[in-house]
Amino acid sequence: MWADRLTPNLRNGSYVLWISSFALRQICMGTIRATCPDCGDVDLQNHDVRVRVCIDTDEGEYRFRCPTCAMLTVKPASDRTVDLLMSAGVHMDEWRLPAELKETHAGLRICHDDIIDFHALLADDAATADALRRLAEA
Ligand SMILES: [Zn+2]
Repeated sequence: MWADRLTPNLRNGSYVLWISSFALRQICMGTIRATCPDCGDVDLQNHDVRVRVCIDTDEGEYRFRCPTCAMLTVKPASDRTVDLLMSAGVHMDEWRLPAELKETHAGLRICHDDIIDFHALLADDAATADALRRLAEA
């Protein structure tokens, strides 16, 4: 398996970025060669690729939309890959996990029967109004 590394290409002065997913990326004057799962190697400009890093987990990923088939490809990125893509001029977005993940939940889990009961309640206007009235009184 390839380790993430940047190797100079002595023939044309560019750099070849080897990524652990066996994909070959070439960085030369802001051009990045990426691999679309359907189309194979495609050439992208640095503004066609985005890097995202989660501040809470420190995990990174990069994404691009294939210029041939328009399929969005998202792959995990190591710290080294993030650094290399950023050095090639790729923009990085930072994001946080949703705050809802830190909420504590009490009570029973909602099951399929609860969803079916709720669906039936919504179909019955009188029952829905009664449920809303009881909720407002609580
Ligand atoms: Zn494609």
